[in-house]
Amino acid sequence: MPELPEVETTLRGIAPHTLNRRISSVVIRQPQLRWEIPPNFAELVNKKELLGITRRGKYLLFEFVHGHALIHLGMSGSLRIVDSITPPNPHDHFDWVFDTVVLRYHDPRRFGCLLWVEGEPHEHKLLAALGPEPLTEEFNADYLYKRSRNRSQAIKQFIMDSHVVVGVGNIYANESLFMSRIKPIRKAGALTRKNCEDLVRNIKFVLARSIEQGGTTLRDFVGGDGKPGYFKQQLLVYGRGGEACSECGKTLKEVRMMDRTTVYCVDCQK
Ligand SMILES: [Zn+2]
Repeated sequence: MPELPEVETTLRGIAPHTLNRRISSVVIRQPQLRWEIPPNFAELVNKKELLGITRRGKYLLFEFVHGHALIHLGMSGSLRIVDSITPPNPHDHFDWVFDTVVLRYHDPRRFGCLLWVEGEPHEHKLLAALGPEPLTEEFNADYLYKRSRNRSQAIKQFIMDSHVVVGVGNIYANESLFMSRIKPIRKAGALTRKNCEDLVRNIKFVLARSIEQGGTTLRDFVGGDGKPGYFKQQLLVYGRGGEACSECGKTLKEVRMMDRTTVYCVDCQK
């Protein structure tokens, strides 16, 4: 599933090819994504200049003079740059053509979306209730500490809730909790202020590192297969259930939480 670093990598990959360029045509092959692509979408952006691209959580916002296109990659979506003679593959659902360059959306499972937003995009119902961006100042120890008081939810579930903070996917939750020596099943409300400091710092670290490493494969990504290399990074616990803990050597425990793989060290994480 595309996570925040992958969406950020996508943004950085497509921006140099599309920003401040005019859309010459739009091709929609399959309008039925998670929600239907607005039937007048092509009309709305045709001949319009793309003025900006920003990310909010895992949403990409494409700014035009009269509104924003909102794209989410869902479970299996990707955006890539191809040249205008590249024939579409199955599951390539739409193209934005910028003369010779095409921004192409691919999504086998079709859980992504392309919507049109008039007015202030951050007030759109999909964005309005989102928590702070993890890599901004707004997400800090003080915020996490206050927000988690009296919450009996497991801390892992808590930090993966996009109302609390956006973009902490399963891999990053596992990794940052291990680095912070916090057991994933611990109640959020039981975190100390020091725990919150550690956890905020480590969430920022794992996400920033992943974006950096996604960035190193940007050229491949833009040129071809649409697979950023963020899984290649060194992971301390995720995917390592049953292996030895890198800190103490004990066997890492793997459990399911909310149907997601959860790996932790019973000794190092309290
Ligand atoms: Zn350990």
